Amino acid sequence: MDGMTVNTAARVAALMQELLGTDQVQSYVDGAFVTGKGATLSLTDPATGDVFAQFPDADASVVDAAGRAAQAAQIEWWAKTASERGRIMFEIGRQLRENAAALSELECISAGRPVRDAGGEPPRMAEMFEYYAGWCDKIQGDVIPVPSTHLNYTRREPVGVVSQITPWNAPLFTCCWQIAPAICAGNGVILKPSELTPLSSIVVAVLCEKAGVPRGLVNVIAGAGPTAGQAMIDHDATGLVVFVGSAEAGEKIASSAAKRVIPSILELGGKSANIVFEDADIDRAVVGTQAAIFAACGQSCVAGSRLLVQASIKDEVVAKLAEASARIPVGMPMNPDTQVGPVNNLAQWQKIDSMVREATDAGATIATGGAKPADLTDSNGYFYAPTVLDNVTPDMTIANEEVFGPVVSVLTFETEEDAIALANNTPYGLAGAVWTRDVGRAHRVASKVRAGTFWINSYKTINVMSPFGGFGRSGYGRSSGREALDAYTVTKSVWVETAADPAIAFGYAPG
Ligand code: NAD
Repeated sequence: MDGMTVNTAARVAALMQELLGTDQVQSYVDGAFVTGKGATLSLTDPATGDVFAQFPDADASVVDAAGRAAQAAQIEWWAKTASERGRIMFEIGRQLRENAAALSELECISAGRPVRDAGGEPPRMAEMFEYYAGWCDKIQGDVIPVPSTHLNYTRREPVGVVSQITPWNAPLFTCCWQIAPAICAGNGVILKPSELTPLSSIVVAVLCEKAGVPRGLVNVIAGAGPTAGQAMIDHDATGLVVFVGSAEAGEKIASSAAKRVIPSILELGGKSANIVFEDADIDRAVVGTQAAIFAACGQSCVAGSRLLVQASIKDEVVAKLAEASARIPVGMPMNPDTQVGPVNNLAQWQKIDSMVREATDAGATIATGGAKPADLTDSNGYFYAPTVLDNVTPDMTIANEEVFGPVVSVLTFETEEDAIALANNTPYGLAGAVWTRDVGRAHRVASKVRAGTFWINSYKTINVMSPFGGFGRSGYGRSSGREALDAYTVTKSVWVETAADPAIAFGYAPG
């Protein structure tokens, strides 16, 4: 082991001791750490390629214990007043702020996320809990003016236990994004982060409990998808599945949920179009385009991975973009100057590289990047240079399939209609953007591109207050904003007879 491995392993262990009181990677179930009995799983430092921790996969007995605990705790949680639940959720936000430094360092090191991205995250996570804390005492039903002697009202009741499965690209962010609306609506939670990045989610579960949620309300499973994840969906306590990840896994998960006749929310991948018209502020668009694709090393579901440029300005945009992209600092996550860190894992690095090779074989040209950065070739970390692929055509795989890495494909269009048709030319529909100074055009394009989130002269901003989700193969359901509260509750209709005369009440005279 080289020096970096020792440091990573030691630093992660120290941070885990500080935040969790243990340095063993375990599931957190019913207020206690539980060790699985499954196959050994490894955590690898993306910046060095070295394994820094190992743990046994959570087996079905761990998931079963989580399901039972969440069921019992949910009853206790729902029995509290709405105001009390809100106060506890505010306290979770405070706990996240208090532990921000250690939590963001853990996330940077263990998931390979640059400190300039992950460093400021815990306050944003706190805001997620604070936003939903405010909703706790505002979830209410209606009184329906039915045409009879009844009082008819609705109650918004929790689903019960929600199983949430999340990916490796932004583990802390995604975990809080999912847990906050679920518990706001009165549910218990079993959350399984990716087996590649479980640590920050385990910390969140512990902090929720420190803040005062009942023991077992928030359980985090350290385990793999086809084993622990599948057991969560199959568990009879699970009343709703929320899945964030690839479309391929989403298909399987939604099928499993459908077999149990339980609903699912799917937040899947994308192939989002970033459209630049010739009347745009080109320099701003070039900066925005870099943020769209290279932030988080392109490992973002909303990444602007297709750059659609009006043909008249294509050469200028590509030249400026390639020149600026080649200067982006790529390097170690804890270096504050690093803007693009490593790809999260070796399999993903290999996927990115092979998609780039396939594209160039098909006729695309590399304007910049397309390999490990020259100054990092000696590193075993999974670094990939910010890459601009020019001369991509709509029929190429790279124009249609998600890369999930720092690779932008440039395609051209002539007219507004062409741009919209090209933007809609994939089965996905997660996000998109348009750059133009023509306000009418901006709104026309925003209304015609099929995408769950769309930016005008901007890219990438999302917030827990706003609904987020996909069209088409990017998934369905919304798990943020006010709309999430519909997904996390079921409506009960209650009928109260008010008529004094039973003949009126029941439609026949008493016998
Ligand atoms: P993935 O689908 O391989 O895994 C995601 C999660 O699902 C992991 O926790 C994994 O263990 C689990 N899983 C995998 N197969 C499973 C199965 N058969 N049963 C149960 N659980 C299973 O995705 P990934 O590689 O971790 O993440 C990258 C993908 O996530 C990309 O496609 C990206 O676009 C997508 N993503 C989407 C959003 C969104 O909100 N739309 C956000 C982030 C990432």
